Amino acid sequence: MNPSHARLVIVGAGPAGLTAAIYAGRGALEPIVLEGELTSSTDQPGGQLMLTTEVENFPGFPNGVLGPDLIKEMRVQAERFGAMLRPGRLTKVDLSSHPFKIWTSHSQSNEPEITADSLIIATGASARLLGVEGEQRLLGHGVSTCATCDGFFFRGKKIVVVGGGDSAMEEALFLTKFAESVTVIHRRDTLRASRIMQQRAQSNPKISFIWNTVVESIEGADRVEYLRLRNVVTGELSKYVTDGVFIAIGHVPNTDVFKGQLELDDQGYIITHDGTNTSVAGVFACGDVQDHTYRQAITAAGSGCMAAIDAERWLSAMHEQ
Ligand code: NAP
Repeated sequence: MNPSHARLVIVGAGPAGLTAAIYAGRGALEPIVLEGELTSSTDQPGGQLMLTTEVENFPGFPNGVLGPDLIKEMRVQAERFGAMLRPGRLTKVDLSSHPFKIWTSHSQSNEPEITADSLIIATGASARLLGVEGEQRLLGHGVSTCATCDGFFFRGKKIVVVGGGDSAMEEALFLTKFAESVTVIHRRDTLRASRIMQQRAQSNPKISFIWNTVVESIEGADRVEYLRLRNVVTGELSKYVTDGVFIAIGHVPNTDVFKGQLELDDQGYIITHDGTNTSVAGVFACGDVQDHTYRQAITAAGSGCMAAIDAERWLSAMHEQ
């Protein structure tokens, strides 16, 4: 089967990828958008907004908007301008020659499924794990990275949230709807979260804090039963009984498939220059996959717009040569 060819392929369908699709669609580039597929509770088409409840800071929604609803509207808008959304995950890419070659989880042979004149990478980032004993084994059995997905299963239970950023506060606040109590365990004695989220969490009677403490291991036969903790100031070790633990310690960029082909920084983020250009001409990156500073839905959308404009200009310049 001959691969389908596109002038532009966009990988990822979160706010960055979908905004790029809206702009590229309006630019008559007829982009193919590889939107990913559900591989775990934290990895799905639409990205991190699908795991969020209320988004309160996206301009234009004075009363807030649900993350999944925002993504749904962006998809409709992208399709209206001719973007072709395809299910499937990028499994392999060859950026060494033109056109670029793309294999997906739906590829049926060794042949690439799609070839593309240009590529926009908007694969985002996924939840970071602690890397402690018991964590992987008990994932889905009391260990979670998504309160919106799994909070319901913890009705009336004692829950721990690990982390001190906005995500941890958001998870803790959301979990108070179900849990009897929520304990935030943070490795320092000050939170990284924004002032407003700190205030909300600290004034919630169901939420308490354990400071200067890290989780050493997660214990339990086939469900989480307790955590082994270590106070990083005193060195004191303790056991903490809990029904569940939500890990909210930030994210890692989804760039494994690009290793060795694009310049990445030491944390694995794609390095961009002069807007959204990557180290390979014709390949652009936007959203959380290249941004470890701002990481907001609105900045992802903004950089998606930039990537589409950069791709459009690059394709025009190529055409004129
Ligand atoms: P983050 O801001 O990077 O915070 C990560 C937290 O996890 C930090 O408190 C960090 O501790 C802790 N941490 C990291 N690695 C750890 C480890 N190995 N063990 C224990 N603790 C660890 O990540 P985030 O909270 O996911 O937020 C990401 C971005 O999204 C931010 O820009 C945030 O503002 C935004 N966001 C906004 C909202 C909102 O406005 N409602 C909601 C969610 C996310 P240290 O503080 O010691 O580094």
